[in-house]
Amino acid sequence: MQALTKNPTNPTPHPVLGLVETIVVDSRVLSCDGGLGALGHPRVFLRIRDHQTFCPYCSRLFVLNPEASSHGDAH
Ligand SMILES: [Zn+2]
Repeated sequence: MQALTKNPTNPTPHPVLGLVETIVVDSRVLSCDGGLGALGHPRVFLRIRDHQTFCPYCSRLFVLNPEASSHGDAH
């Protein structure tokens, strides 16, 4: 018998629940530079495809405000 070993083929940083800051935004296009000095990183521009995305640098979660229908959402 051979013990199963997990090989992390894609070491994507997983946001730890409870530690990730969730930010509600009104636009699908946003930029993040870490905000705070301790977590600062080069400013990156993120685009929300569906309804949320997260910053690959600081793992902050950006959630699109469902009430912000800037593209004429026929609600
Ligand atoms: Zn960030």
